[in-house]
Amino acid sequence: MAKEVRTTSRKLKLRLQKEAGGKCANPGCSTWRVQIHHIKQWAVYKADNAEDMIAICPTCHDACHRGTLRITDEELYRWKNIPRKGPPNTAQLFVEAAETPKRVRVFMGPLGVQVARNRAIVFRHLRGSSFSFEKLFGDTLQISSRLEDLAGREVLQVSNNVVRAAADPDVRFEHPRAGHIRITVPANGNYMPDWQIQQIRAQVPNFAIDGRLVALEVNVLRPGELMAEGFWRAGKGAVIFTKDAIHLCSNEASLQPLTIMPDPGNIHPMAVEFPEEANVDELGIFEELMLKPLGMC
Ligand SMILES: [Zn+2]
Repeated sequence: MAKEVRTTSRKLKLRLQKEAGGKCANPGCSTWRVQIHHIKQWAVYKADNAEDMIAICPTCHDACHRGTLRITDEELYRWKNIPRKGPPNTAQLFVEAAETPKRVRVFMGPLGVQVARNRAIVFRHLRGSSFSFEKLFGDTLQISSRLEDLAGREVLQVSNNVVRAAADPDVRFEHPRAGHIRITVPANGNYMPDWQIQQIRAQVPNFAIDGRLVALEVNVLRPGELMAEGFWRAGKGAVIFTKDAIHLCSNEASLQPLTIMPDPGNIHPMAVEFPEEANVDELGIFEELMLKPLGMC
């Protein structure tokens, strides 16, 4: 008997989660972890009617029960009636404002990129790939990025911290917690030529060993700072950022990529900083520093 009740409520929970589009039903909330709220008070009605229940996140749930600006039942029914197709492929990345403009930076492998002015293009126009970031209001980090597969189809796009993964069964979009977004694709020739995967494995034997490539992973570390991993195309080659290293694959005939790793005796990342007078709008930082000398762009 008890088992039946539990089964029913799990089924109901799944139905309500699907109805809410796999996220909090609040259209202004990007949280994916949800609870089931009884719009009509459970204590009064003692019934599990799907029509009067909704999937919302713990924070929004809290706002239904208390607070000065409570979420009303009318709002909840309005959210419940929004037609949705799940699962979501868009998320908003929030990065708390930094204490000082100097603390607005992006860590990519062993590289910390910061700019004195407002915009840093880390890469651009590398066969449909780009990565850049901007400082908004002098202290707030906004990233933008693009990646296409080898056939030129879009895999992902990030515009001012709004992340969108392609609605493609190959493309897996994970948002395990606020401030952490991960998009992966199969480790096959649609996304990265086999020779590139083999080259990186010469350095990192377990690279993409689970059959997935990290197309983009972003993790907010501190106010104004985030860590980005992923891969970007550069000419016939690729630039791959992992947690610890940067791999540049530019030549099919070579057995190993050019890998940049931090000095083990130095815990601080290499910092690339552009001076006030540089026209950073015109610079692709990585392009200028490494890719052009290697003939990769
Ligand atoms: Zn919510």
